Amino acid sequence: MNQLQSLRGMVDILPMQIQHWQAVELVAREQFHRAGFKEIRTPLLEVTELFSRSIGEATDVVGKEMYTFSDRGNRSCTLRPEGTASVVRAVVEHGLLSKGLQRFWYGGPMFRYERPQAGRQRQFHQIGVECLGIDSPRCDVEVIAMAWDLLHSLGLNDLVLELNSLGTPEDRKKYRVQLLDWLHDRRDQLDVDSQKRLQTNPLRILDSKDPKTCSLLKDAPLLEDSLCNESSIRFESLKHTLEVLGIPFALNPRLVRGLDYYCHTAFEITSRHLGAQATVCGGGRYDGLVEQLGGPASSGIGWAIGMERLVLLLDDSFKAASSPDVYFVNKGEEAEIKALDIARRLRAAGLAVELDSSRASFGKQFRRADRCGAKWAIILGDDEMSNGEVRLKKLHSTNDPSIVKELVTSSSDLDGLLAFLRS
Ligand code: ATP
Ligand code: MG
Repeated sequence: MNQLQSLRGMVDILPMQIQHWQAVELVAREQFHRAGFKEIRTPLLEVTELFSRSIGEATDVVGKEMYTFSDRGNRSCTLRPEGTASVVRAVVEHGLLSKGLQRFWYGGPMFRYERPQAGRQRQFHQIGVECLGIDSPRCDVEVIAMAWDLLHSLGLNDLVLELNSLGTPEDRKKYRVQLLDWLHDRRDQLDVDSQKRLQTNPLRILDSKDPKTCSLLKDAPLLEDSLCNESSIRFESLKHTLEVLGIPFALNPRLVRGLDYYCHTAFEITSRHLGAQATVCGGGRYDGLVEQLGGPASSGIGWAIGMERLVLLLDDSFKAASSPDVYFVNKGEEAEIKALDIARRLRAAGLAVELDSSRASFGKQFRRADRCGAKWAIILGDDEMSNGEVRLKKLHSTNDPSIVKELVTSSSDLDGLLAFLRS
């Protein structure tokens, strides 16, 4: 029979890779907890309107990348392409703001029908935070600093924080007119995708990766010059606070972000080690989104880190411990049953026990025990069985001769056995 494969862009995360993921999740969870962010888990499947209304019809995500289908009740459903819309929907639906909850974090798979390549998949994973109902630019800095600190505590130092202000919707309306004027005169010099965006989403042209368009845009009018006084003051305050905290940043006037709902602060954290997919974290302020999804007028800011890109950047020092405490070498009809019984009881007492079920020779089982990184091997064969004993062997002992390397103990004395294994 022919072999089945995963869908294109849907990637298995294998046991030898999972240690990196778990290490990141552990550090992130700790950090979110210390900062008072509460976890929220929303469904992978939502009504399509949630994303078309919040992300915007004219964006790449809604226009080209969503996994949308009708369910058996003929409702249009979409696999979530990002987390913010779902979190805001859940917060509004359950009235969490009025219950005093404002800081949330989430993690899990997202789905976008994109062209798969290194650092770009169709099912990928994000961890992200959302901070709702706090308008102050200090909140923007707190949120940006969380991403910055998280990445640094994972050992990533070679990162750039890119920053821009998108102003208010009025600022952008004003800028849109200026930009369109300027672009219309240069229409023929734009790449095909950007020409299409002239009608739908002209600001996104600034984000084009096409080299010719990029070099043309160097002389385009700047969004910064269209900011009203209040927006400029806000942006200055943000930059000042980052400077006080010692978080370096680079201004990027062409950073517009992909989704329609952003305003004021927009930022990305990039790494030069990721090739074309350089952005590991993206985020910004989205005042108005809560209201747009039927909630009370309230502000919001958040970011999302792409886990696959983050894991690509990690070095091997960031692995969660995955070796068992004990490797159980066992062979013989009765010995194997006894081994299973002891393994269960040791596991219930909190030890990680890998039970060899191969029935291979003792030599082979010992080689596996050595490879798996366990501290101890327990040995139980016919001889030990008939004496009512188990043998213990310290596998990764130091050169210190005072450390016991091999000893025998009663197979019925679980407490004695545990005392050795925990030593
Ligand atoms: P890009 O410009 O790379 O497509 P984006 O602006 O579409 O990114 P966001 O929606 O801001 O990305 O998502 C936040 C982060 O999630 C990105 O910075 C990236 O690390 C990650 N990400 C987004 N799309 C993918 C994908 N298809 N595969 C893997 N990671 C992704
Ligand atoms: Mg994208």
